[in-house]
Amino acid sequence: MNQPVHRIAVIPGDGIGKEVMPEALRVLQAVQQRFSVQLDLTPIAWASCDHFAAHGDMMPPDWKAQLQDQHALLFGAVGWPATVPDNVSLWGSLLKFRREFDQYINLRPVRLFEGVPCPLAGRKPGDIDYFIVRENTEGEYTKLGGIMFEGTEREVVIQESVFSRHGSDRVLKYAFELANSRPRKHLTVATKSNGIAISMPWWDGRADAMHAHYPAVAVDKQHIDILSARFVLQPGRFDVVVASNLFGDILSDLGPATTGTIGLAPSANLNPERTFPSLFEPVHGSAPDIYGQNIANPVAMIWSAALMLQFLGEQAAHDAILRAIEATLTGPRSEVTRDLGGSASTTVMGQAIAARVAAGV
Ligand code: ATP
Ligand code: MG
Repeated sequence: MNQPVHRIAVIPGDGIGKEVMPEALRVLQAVQQRFSVQLDLTPIAWASCDHFAAHGDMMPPDWKAQLQDQHALLFGAVGWPATVPDNVSLWGSLLKFRREFDQYINLRPVRLFEGVPCPLAGRKPGDIDYFIVRENTEGEYTKLGGIMFEGTEREVVIQESVFSRHGSDRVLKYAFELANSRPRKHLTVATKSNGIAISMPWWDGRADAMHAHYPAVAVDKQHIDILSARFVLQPGRFDVVVASNLFGDILSDLGPATTGTIGLAPSANLNPERTFPSLFEPVHGSAPDIYGQNIANPVAMIWSAALMLQFLGEQAAHDAILRAIEATLTGPRSEVTRDLGGSASTTVMGQAIAARVAAGV
């Protein structure tokens, strides 16, 4: 059988994005040697503040035409606030990808690994292992609203939320599918229908309607306040969590924070219909404070590449990378970075993971 060739745009971006991306590529190289996975990698130097410095824009005018035939975008990090304000760099690159490529699912796995100190007392690997599915295109993040009587004592601000049936149903469907595919088949729906009087009761109703199609999935609706507390107090309750844009944004920083260093957490911005390329990136930013020292943890980037392979149908390659990450995290401290209490450089840790992928641990 002919193997599909996966077309991937490789976009390191700024700061430590440029340091961790080579390690992801090293691991992908090892994957290609060991498995019959075929990748057609296109390096992209724009979507970066370096490009902005040279051209006055984050991306060339034809960026969409250049990227839309790719199957996936592997993205490092963007932002160099010393030269380009964060809102300019972010809105000029990453947020354009999310919007123009309709990447309406933001998926974040949250998992505590053996060998990583957990900020929650007494938690063991296995106690924290869930997915957050965040709606990525609508909800509370709109520019609808305004300020009335501005500058006066009567000043009033209105900020609208938008929940469409199409937009809500498609993220709920994705979350139910994911929950249905997992052994526990459990879905937590984040809500606040006891306080937000119109959108959240309606959102709960859409969740109920979708539930009718997935009778095997157990559903637990939780108000966002107690849900957040349980991320800390009872993380074992969660399997798949689905949330609106704002609630999902907050949860998807809180969840990974409970599993140790930000240097581990990956994310996927998905267009599940594959009309457009999906984007895979670490949760962390460009980290100007540590850039240039070769000390950034490359795992978030490498795990993001593994999520990409899984999305492209290469489950065995994904699993091999995850096993190599696990083995490295429990291995010698000379092979893990400082944020994990080790002494390895970014390069050494990347080499250690790639070697384990190649050796088939
Ligand atoms: P963003 O702009 O994406 O919201 P940020 O600029 O606020 O992110 P990061 O760039 O993620 O924040 O950095 C936050 C802190 O975490 C910094 O102190 C940084 O050095 C550290 N950090 C981020 N990524 C890594 C990594 N891969 N390895 C080690 N430390 C990291
Ligand atoms: Mg930043």
